[in-house]
Amino acid sequence: MLSRLQQFAWASFFSLSFLVSSFSSSLAANAAASPPNFNNCLFRDLWEYSDLAVNQGQAGRGYTWGLESYGTYEESYTDAPTQQRLVQYFAKSRMELAGDGKSVTTGLLTKELVSGLVQEGDNSFRQLAPATIAVAGDATSDNPSPSYASFKAVVSLSPTENRAPAQPGQLVTAALNQSGQVTTLANLPAQVKIGGYRPELGHNVPEIFLKFQSAQGKVWQNGWQQSFVYTADPTSNVFGLPISEPYWVQASVGGQLLPVLVQLFERRILTYTPSNSPEYQVEMGNIGQHYHLWRYNGVPGPQTSACAIDLTAHSQSGTVRTPRAPVNCAVAKCIALTYDDGPTAYTPMILDALKARSAVATFFVLGDKLDYFKPTLNRILQEGNEIGNHSWSHPHLPKLSAGQVRSEIQRTQDKIKLLTGYLPLVMRPPYGETNPTVARNVGLPQILWSVETFDWRDSNTYLTTQRALAQARPGRIILMHDTHRSTALAAPAIIDGLQGQGYTLVTISELFDLANNPARLSAGQVVTAR
Ligand code: ZN
Repeated sequence: MLSRLQQFAWASFFSLSFLVSSFSSSLAANAAASPPNFNNCLFRDLWEYSDLAVNQGQAGRGYTWGLESYGTYEESYTDAPTQQRLVQYFAKSRMELAGDGKSVTTGLLTKELVSGLVQEGDNSFRQLAPATIAVAGDATSDNPSPSYASFKAVVSLSPTENRAPAQPGQLVTAALNQSGQVTTLANLPAQVKIGGYRPELGHNVPEIFLKFQSAQGKVWQNGWQQSFVYTADPTSNVFGLPISEPYWVQASVGGQLLPVLVQLFERRILTYTPSNSPEYQVEMGNIGQHYHLWRYNGVPGPQTSACAIDLTAHSQSGTVRTPRAPVNCAVAKCIALTYDDGPTAYTPMILDALKARSAVATFFVLGDKLDYFKPTLNRILQEGNEIGNHSWSHPHLPKLSAGQVRSEIQRTQDKIKLLTGYLPLVMRPPYGETNPTVARNVGLPQILWSVETFDWRDSNTYLTTQRALAQARPGRIILMHDTHRSTALAAPAIIDGLQGQGYTLVTISELFDLANNPARLSAGQVVTAR
């Protein structure tokens, strides 16, 4: 059945990849094997973000890219400035350096494997045979899983091809076999519900895959952070659009025949294996490995040492916040000043007052202002204060869709990171408005307040000061706004007054000891005081 070329491919594949076949669960949970070297430091940064925690056994999820590099290449691409493009193959995908040399993309590998068309320019393609490689399970010739070629008759390579009607809430009952036949299962391996519909190519996506795409977890970004593992926007180019319906397939996994739910996306494959332990039930398919096998016959490509991971740099947090002497708020009389809606021209007045009194506060900033306030933002951190996320544009979050909520928060996280190197650990919803959808999607603890000064309403320095001092209690969080000059003018008297009452002014992270106990506040948790 196999052509000479395919036999060669399988044989060489086996010789190099016994490591790879045990990828998903076992390696992730066990001691770390060395990460690969990278062709470009942007590739390294991207790998580190999602896969370093997996590699260190700290993630409770599978790899996004994979442990092994299959090779680095200059692939010809007619529309690139040099007509070549720097790429590197991993088990789960291919990284590509964009033409500007400043960003990384991934290819539409699934489309190429199913159609047989290798993309060599924005509009130029080379025809190979569609890949007869199993989409799920073992890389063995007796694996009964459908191959990429098996999907050819059911995928949408254009918006008019094989569209499915929206089926929200329905169970996935369709099965696909190696010859591409679709049947309806009477006995379902698991109850998997459709959770959403992508209208572009007309395909349903199971709830479990949607949940996976927007999952949050431990990531490395200038320090260990809790954030979206893949993307705040599931339609972004991490996965691409779904090009098939989800199908149950029979696949040989570690030599065992198992039902696996498979769905093809433009750039990735997602699999759901009901018999896996919960954290590894949904995984990325090994599409980078399959693609490399198809296009390069699995012959390992050139390796690189251009950019390596410095593991020692990851043993400490990489934030630029100036460390302060530890405060134990279980013993000390702590209180937290918070300033919302900035930064503004008044923010430095507050910073001056804090610094002169060795006090700190937390600034919940708006993303869409930040480009104008880079020096202020960095000063906030350098003087030991904390930056929190107050959304991008100050909307009423409960009125937004889940995707819009994620975007409001993630864009702001990205901007703060870009301008300071620091990624906030806490957020405050605008107007203090939240609901369960907001809570599920903000990805950070929601810090509200226990003392309202009405500084925004009264713009009165005296009243703001009096209200802050009169309601002070250990563990409380005081709300103010650095958008008001009257508030900035109140800062010296408020700080003096609180310190005179024996209070230690701390940041939100200090109030909850997040440095030593990052799990003390969970993503979405609503917090009003210690
Ligand atoms: Zn606000």
